[in-house]
Amino acid sequence: MTTSASVPTQQPHSLAVYFDHNATTPVHPEILNELPQVAQYFGNPSSIHWSSREPKRLIREARNKVAKALRANPLEIIFTSGASESNSTVFASFYALIKNQTRNEIITTKIEHPSVLRACENLLSQGITVHYISVNDSGNFDWDHFNKVLGPKTALVSVMLANNETGLILPVSEIAKATHIAGAWMHSDCVQAIGKMPIDLQDLEIDFASFSAHKIYALKGCGVLYVRKSSPLFPLIYGGGQERSRRGGTENTLAIWALGKSLEYESQYLAQYQEIQKIRDYFETQVCLKISDVSINHKNAPRLPHTSSLLINGIDGETMLMSLDLKGYAVSTGAACSSGNPEPSHVLLAMGLDRSKAQTSLRISFGIGNTVTEVDQFLIELQQSVARLRKIMNESFVEKNSVKEDLNFNL
Ligand code: PLP
Repeated sequence: MTTSASVPTQQPHSLAVYFDHNATTPVHPEILNELPQVAQYFGNPSSIHWSSREPKRLIREARNKVAKALRANPLEIIFTSGASESNSTVFASFYALIKNQTRNEIITTKIEHPSVLRACENLLSQGITVHYISVNDSGNFDWDHFNKVLGPKTALVSVMLANNETGLILPVSEIAKATHIAGAWMHSDCVQAIGKMPIDLQDLEIDFASFSAHKIYALKGCGVLYVRKSSPLFPLIYGGGQERSRRGGTENTLAIWALGKSLEYESQYLAQYQEIQKIRDYFETQVCLKISDVSINHKNAPRLPHTSSLLINGIDGETMLMSLDLKGYAVSTGAACSSGNPEPSHVLLAMGLDRSKAQTSLRISFGIGNTVTEVDQFLIELQQSVARLRKIMNESFVEKNSVKEDLNFNL
C-alpha cells in the first residue's frame, strides 16, 4: 500500500511529504477504489424494503470485522461519529449513572485527549470528584497517587492506551486489573494504538474503549465505542433505536464499511509499522547527530513505533511548523485540534516541562508510504530551518542588547 500517492493532489508544492499520521491518515487505496460503488447503496439501513438490504449487510460485515480485529463480540461494538463522541458518551453515561450514588468518583490522567479532559471538566462543574494522575517526563504513571485515590468511591477509571503527542504507551492492562479489584469500571481511549500495536480487548480487560476510523486509513466521521457485555451504558444520542438503542441516528454506512475494510489489513499494518519503527528510530538518531540541543520526549519509555516528539531548544514549534510547511512537509506541534492555539501542549506541561520548553515541540508521526529517502531530505530541511531560525534569534538578541547598551550609555 502506498498511501503517499493520495497526498500530493491537495498540495501546492512539487514535494509533498506527510509526516502527521497522528492527526489523520490518508485513505487506504482499496477503500478509495471501492468507495464510488459502495456509495451507491444509498438506502437507510433501518428501512424494511429492498434498499436497506445492502447497507444492512455492509454494516453487519463491518461490525464483525471490527470485533474480530479487537477480539470482541460484534454485539459489543457501537458505531459512533468518531472517538470524541465515543469518549463523550462514556462520561455522559457515567454522570447519569453515578450522580446520586456514593461510588461517584472518576480517575483519569493529565495527558488524555481534550475530548476526555473537557468531559471531566464538565463533570467537575456538576460536583463530581475527578482525580488526575500524572505521567512524568520519563513516561512513568504515578502509581502511588493512583493507589491512594482508587477505592470504594471510584466509579470509573479512564486511561488512554497510547498518547497522541509523544506516543507513550500506558500500562492499561495493569491499571484495569487494579480498577476491577476496587470494583470500578475501566475505559481506555485506544485511538492512536490501533494498527500500531496488537490490541486484544480480552487481554486488556477493559470495559469501554474508544476508536477512530480516520486514524487508521479509513474515513472521517466514524468511530467505535466498545462496551463489554453487561457494562452499563446510557446513550448520548437518542434516536430511532439504531445500534440496539445505544446510539441513535442513521448509520454512516459508507464510513462504517470503510472502517471494516481497513481493519481487514490490520495484521499487515502491524507488520508495516515494524518497518516504520526503523524509519522513526533512524530519524531520531540522525536528528540528534545533526542538530544540537534536541531532545526526544518519552524516548526511553514504551512508545508507539511511529511517533517522535522533539524539543528543539530555542525554536518555537509553530514557527518551525510553518517553515517546514513552506517546503512541503506536513508535521505538527502536538495535537491537531490544538493547532493555531498559542498555549503549549497540556501533555508536555503535565510531564513537568516549563512553558518555554514545551513551546519548542515538534511532532513527527510517520505512516505507511513514508521512506528513508523522505527522512533524509527532511533532515536537510530541518537542519537548514533550525540554523536559519537560530541565526535570526541570535541577531535579534544581539540587536536587543545593543539597543539596551545604547540606552544605558545615553542615560
Ligand atoms: N483520542 C485521541 C487520543 C486522539 O488522538 C483523537 C484525535 O486526534 C481523538 C480521541 C478524537 O478522535 P476523533 O477525531 O475521531 O473525534
